[in-house]
Amino acid sequence: MSSIELKSIEKWFGNVQVIKGVDLRIEEGEFIIFVGPSGCGKSTLLRMIAGLEETSRGQIMIDGRDATAEAPSKRGLTMVFQSYALYPHMSVRDNMGFSLKAAGAPKTEIDEKVNRAAEVLKLVPYFDRRPKDLSGGQRQRVAIGRSIVRDPTAFLFDEPLSNLDAALRVEMRYEIAKLHHSLGATMIYVTHDQVEAMTLADRIVVLEAGRIAQIGTPRALYERPENLFVAQFIGSPK
Ligand code: ADP
Ligand code: MG
Repeated sequence: MSSIELKSIEKWFGNVQVIKGVDLRIEEGEFIIFVGPSGCGKSTLLRMIAGLEETSRGQIMIDGRDATAEAPSKRGLTMVFQSYALYPHMSVRDNMGFSLKAAGAPKTEIDEKVNRAAEVLKLVPYFDRRPKDLSGGQRQRVAIGRSIVRDPTAFLFDEPLSNLDAALRVEMRYEIAKLHHSLGATMIYVTHDQVEAMTLADRIVVLEAGRIAQIGTPRALYERPENLFVAQFIGSPK
């Protein structure tokens, strides 16, 4: 489990500022959700935490160390990509083990970790299938499984369910909640789906044009939105 602290984070693309001073402390094991309209900076912020995007100003602390300039692979975090990022020619088993294999892990270790992840995600019966022979929800589980095998201390999700139909989204929302309980890992999750945010989050961070409009529990945001923007976004009646 990691704690992650963002200190006065800014992001500039050329002379356009898209993240305008974000301060946030994420506790170990917390489920944090970033919400906000398209273009407000959710993905950029997540990619900065992952190290996939450089931080223009400010600091990112992971477990108390300054990780601002650390390579992605050194951060102990994993980004769960959407299921279409699976390797189409590889079986479920090979998709899940690929990153460990690439990192030179011994076969016994790969097998053990892949088996354990597949059990958690109920993927054992599908081990020998290719992604094209899986449902959308199963594919998304494989994408999550690929991350679990690396034993990350935090998971970063960028709209992982947005390609799924409504029924599958509900099912996967439940799966992700169970995963959070069973692994106890810190989770940072981006969505523009208010229901997802309200049901999964310990705390929700509402972003508006690169700034935090409000941070709080789902209930606090719903009952006490600080302004009309938050109220409209969360769907409460202010
Ligand atoms: P969200 O995920 O909330 O929809 P993004 O983080 O993707 O928003 O984008 C925030 C803003 O930054 C948008 O205005 C977007 O156009 C801009 N942006 C994102 N990536 C780049 C980039 N590589 N170069 C220039 N502008 C970018
Ligand atoms: Mg985005």
